[in-house]
Amino acid sequence: MSRFWSDTARRLVPYVPGEQPRETLIKLNTNECPYPPSPRVMRAIQEVGGDELRRYPNPESDALRCAVADYHRIEPSQVFPGNGSDEVLAHIFQGLLKQQRPLVFPDITYSFYPVWCALYDIDYETLPLTEDFRIDVGAIPRDNGGIIFPNPNAPTGCPLPLAEIRRVLLGHPDSVVVVDEAYVDFGAESAIPLIRDFPNLVVVQTLSKARSLAGLRVGFAFAQAELVEALLRVKNSFNSYPLDVFAQRGAVAAYQDEAYFQECRARVIASREQLALALSDLGYDVLPSAANFLLVSPPGGDAAALFGRLRERGILVRHFSRPRIDRFLRISIGSEEECATLLGVLKELS
Ligand SMILES: *Cc1c(COP(=O)(O)O)cnc(C)c1O
Repeated sequence: MSRFWSDTARRLVPYVPGEQPRETLIKLNTNECPYPPSPRVMRAIQEVGGDELRRYPNPESDALRCAVADYHRIEPSQVFPGNGSDEVLAHIFQGLLKQQRPLVFPDITYSFYPVWCALYDIDYETLPLTEDFRIDVGAIPRDNGGIIFPNPNAPTGCPLPLAEIRRVLLGHPDSVVVVDEAYVDFGAESAIPLIRDFPNLVVVQTLSKARSLAGLRVGFAFAQAELVEALLRVKNSFNSYPLDVFAQRGAVAAYQDEAYFQECRARVIASREQLALALSDLGYDVLPSAANFLLVSPPGGDAAALFGRLRERGILVRHFSRPRIDRFLRISIGSEEECATLLGVLKELS
């Protein structure tokens, strides 16, 4: 800290992402996809010409908005692209979730949510997950200024059925309800088809997880045009060109390779199910997951110690020193080979 810092900078409590080590290890700590992006994406990026880079990119990513709208059978005016879904979420917090009454999210969830609340001075309340880490939709307080949760939830991997999401939307018609679908492609049902019927719904997705493009930084909000308009106002008061030329072209190509996408997610899901079974056999408590990670508690429950021992062996996973989940490790699903190596080491350590 120095005397030159603003009050805002002094007060910030930044989000701490999982580490990105140089000499990689087996990296199972930030839920990236273990497989490379579609070859079509690589080609599209390589085909970008110098003249395109000389100029500013299309400010609203129009071609991408059309491609994604087509893919999800909605209107381009219902698509809001951003520089990763974290940026999209930040704009949602500022443009839609900053209200008189407190925002509500689960007590165990994506830890960036309280960080944006602090940044934008948004009051919030947490909703305790049930004993078995489910979102109890009936327990959401009536008097709220907005609701946000990931589906499946992070870091539990627990999915919420579409019927429950419909219940939230019907029960809180005066609140914006944001469903953060970062992991939806690994086993949950998307709420995008509900957009037509619910003017208070925002669905957020990313290319970072199931489409192997965390490095490209592309995410979306999907909602009725009136809500998207609020996000465009925030975005155009912050950065007119959040998606560069590579991101726009690569993202369009990602949606053109459905076969590759289906294959990647199927492989990750198959590996997850195998690993879950194997860890249960080793005596681990394994939460059922619809995401590309598992939240598991080792026999004895000393997750922090196991984290350290895995690290010594060159395997990086994630441990959260937070109430209720500190006896768990979050393990991203790696390639078949990485899963096998992990399992071998865990057997040795047990
Ligand atoms: C990974 C993740 C994001 C952010 O993804 P980016 O698009 O890479 O910014 C958002 N929400 C949740 C719950 C995530 O796990």
